Amino acid sequence: MTTTPAALVDSLRSIVGAPYVLSDASDTASFNHEWRGLYEGKSFAVARPETTQQVSEIVKLCAQTQTPIVPQGGNTGLVGGQVSADSRSLIVSLSRMNKIRSLVGEGFSMVAEAGVTVQAAQEAAEKVNRLFALSLGSEGSCQIGGTVSTNAGGMNALLYGMMRSQVFGLEVVLAGGQIWNGLKLLRKDNSGYDLKQLFIGAEGTLGIVTAASMKLFPLPEVVETAFIAVPNMEAALALTGLLQDRFPQQLSRCELIPELGLQMVIAHIAGARRPLKTVSPWYVVIELVAGKGAELREPLNQCLAAGLEQGIITDATIADSGQQRKDFWHLRETLPEAQREEGGSIKLDISLPLKCVPDFFKRAEAIIERLCSGARPVPFGHLGDGNIHYDICQPPGMDKQAFLNRWDEIADPLHAIVLEDGGSIAAEHGIGVLKVKKIAKTKAPLEIELMKKIKAALDPQNIMNPGKIIDS
Ligand SMILES: Cc1cc2nc3c(=O)[nH]c(=O)nc-3n(C[C@H](O)[C@H](O)[C@H](O)COP(=O)(O)OP(=O)(O)OC[C@H]3O[C@@H](n4cnc5c(N)ncnc54)[C@H](O)[C@@H]3O)c2cc1C
Repeated sequence: MTTTPAALVDSLRSIVGAPYVLSDASDTASFNHEWRGLYEGKSFAVARPETTQQVSEIVKLCAQTQTPIVPQGGNTGLVGGQVSADSRSLIVSLSRMNKIRSLVGEGFSMVAEAGVTVQAAQEAAEKVNRLFALSLGSEGSCQIGGTVSTNAGGMNALLYGMMRSQVFGLEVVLAGGQIWNGLKLLRKDNSGYDLKQLFIGAEGTLGIVTAASMKLFPLPEVVETAFIAVPNMEAALALTGLLQDRFPQQLSRCELIPELGLQMVIAHIAGARRPLKTVSPWYVVIELVAGKGAELREPLNQCLAAGLEQGIITDATIADSGQQRKDFWHLRETLPEAQREEGGSIKLDISLPLKCVPDFFKRAEAIIERLCSGARPVPFGHLGDGNIHYDICQPPGMDKQAFLNRWDEIADPLHAIVLEDGGSIAAEHGIGVLKVKKIAKTKAPLEIELMKKIKAALDPQNIMNPGKIIDS
């Protein structure tokens, strides 16, 4: 069935109500614009359903009219998956589906709709003395549906795993409009293919996630946070090993900040201050967590003293209050924001076997200097699990666009080393459109063929977020 955009807008209004279908360019602009400004979407309208049934009716309408659908959560994705250059496409924003359907402290579980923000999920869990463990810099905006669909990682993944390991079950609207209710609360279930895992990390290409049942954890009652200066990356790695050996069940975060990144935060983020007098090329911010009555301060002091003695630490401070702890994390979380003030950045979201990290940094720096003298590497992030956000800031004074135009020229040789080392070029942000061409060249042909078969089986008309993950 063919139709006009105006007729589609009318039909959508009859499904969700007139105020919840946006079609004026001024109303759709913020949905079509992604955070980094790398991709401008051209979707003709935005539909904002409030119920799973409405999502189903929207998808049925899109299936009948072959209208491409772009599911959108908090619009914080970093690979362009949540917008589309296709002006025939419809954005389905899940932000009105923001109810927590159930919260069971004794069962350590929560069922939340797709549009609940991560921060709202954390706050709800805390009210029943539980932890919703996902934590990332964008948590005030990103949503359950988006974090499921990108298999988000974040800072606590070291101890609690990525989103994939925190989901019990999903409710999904499939490409034909059918509603699959897979909202189980089981920790064990070997009853055939684990279908939910197909939709986790699928970036909206297989269906629209409308709700998720998820694990909660005991709320840590003892938390120790330390800001640690290390002389080089070999020492940073040795420190990670030391902490893992001493605190295998307590080390929840282990994040890297380079001196240049710290300088940027101090220059651009109001109130940011250096936690240490010592200026060092690298800092590691760590957190230990444990239950009531546990003693972590003294063991941490001893561990840091051992690190100083071994020469892998040059200085360290442990947060003395909740505020100081927040201040340490604020330095880490605002790094991307501070970096934006320095102009354009070429961003690599890579993961490496831990032992390869120091050597990768050396080789990468040499390549960057050779290709674009004056460009400034700012590698930061999830050192504990080998997931580094290897960002490269433009040389001061260079035209931003001229620098960004060199993205592939600079990223390609670095990605080649990552692959040589057995790493991943899409560690936690996904593929979206940013890496869709590249990923096809880095996976085995059989894997690409299987992915295409799954896509064709679940979305035969290719209306679910076409062009993302799989080149179509
Ligand atoms: C400052 C900052 C820090 C960040 N830190 C991290 C980090 O530490 N770790 C990390 O993993 N990511 C991080 N991110 C990236 C981003 O926040 C995550 O990818 C997040 O999971 C995206 O969620 P969202 O709700 O904003 O999704 P969106 O950006 O709206 O969408 C992302 C993708 O999911 C799809 N999608 C969204 N909702 C649904 C749904 N209900 N059903 C099906 N598909 C859907 C979209 O089509 C798109 O392909 C960061 C981003 C920023 C801006």
